[in-house]
Amino acid sequence: MGLDEIIVTQAIVDRFMEKLKACLKLDVAIVGAGPSGMVAAYYLAKSGHKVAIFERKLSIGGGMWGGGMMFNQIVVQEAGKHILDEFGVRVYPYKEGYFTADAIEATTMICAKACQAGVNIFNCISMEDVVVREGRVCGLVINWSPVETTGLHVDPLTIHAQYLIDATGHHTELIKVIERKADGKLFTPTGKIVGEKSLWAEVAETTTVENTKEAYPGAFVCGMAANACFGSYRMGPIFGGMLLSGKKVAQLIQERLKSET
Ligand SMILES: Cc1cc2nc3c(=O)[nH]c(=O)nc-3n(C[C@H](O)[C@H](O)[C@H](O)COP(=O)(O)OP(=O)(O)OC[C@H]3O[C@@H](n4cnc5c(N)ncnc54)[C@H](O)[C@@H]3O)c2cc1C
Repeated sequence: MGLDEIIVTQAIVDRFMEKLKACLKLDVAIVGAGPSGMVAAYYLAKSGHKVAIFERKLSIGGGMWGGGMMFNQIVVQEAGKHILDEFGVRVYPYKEGYFTADAIEATTMICAKACQAGVNIFNCISMEDVVVREGRVCGLVINWSPVETTGLHVDPLTIHAQYLIDATGHHTELIKVIERKADGKLFTPTGKIVGEKSLWAEVAETTTVENTKEAYPGAFVCGMAANACFGSYRMGPIFGGMLLSGKKVAQLIQERLKSET
């Protein structure tokens, strides 16, 4: 039997539309498929919630692929190791309290487990705005990333979600939109994005997790976005804080969703 190109095309269009239509109303919409966003999505999906990630780039993984300065190995400390274990990533002891993993293996295993737990990942799609009703965010405004990068004059589409997570890393893109456009202040000491400080690994690893919280009604921050939003240090290529932050934001939102049902 010969191959029919039209069936191939129909299959792609039909399946993508099924996936997109299933995600128009979500429990949680996550912006950014870096390590913290994927870990958060995994735990939320595993606990039965409808969750999707919107990622601007063609590739998932954010800054995890490149380890430190493109030496594609990552370091995790004792506290974060159990999360890599949960994802089946092989972890090697280096010195007491320090472990390494292959950055490629870590990125792909986390992504694969997240997908298999039920997370829908949409790559090549950027968040460009949010939906706000009565002082609370309740949706994302999205568009194809090439529309954004080429500056095409094309209207976006809308996704509704009970909670949003900013997992966009250093640039805190979701919270920047909220800061600029939504009424009211952020839950930061200044009411605005405080901004990231320079490098101090020990403090930054702890504060990444502490700063993982709600930054505006309905919008949480995790990963580097948490430190940028609430104002703490960057930490260099150690990833325990990113993983723990993803797990924490999932737990916080699970508790909220549970208390609302
Ligand atoms: C300039 C730079 C400096 C870095 N410095 C540090 C450091 O000091 N310490 C450290 O640990 N790591 C650093 N990293 C590496 C890396 O950012 C982090 O370690 C880690 O990957 C952060 O994880 P994350 O999950 O918070 O976000 P990231 O891995 O950064 O992932 C964020 C994802 O969000 C996506 N995204 C952003 N905006 C949008 C949008 N509007 N719509 C859709 N998707 C979007 C991005 O494409 C990306 O894939 C740096 C990376 C860069 C590029």
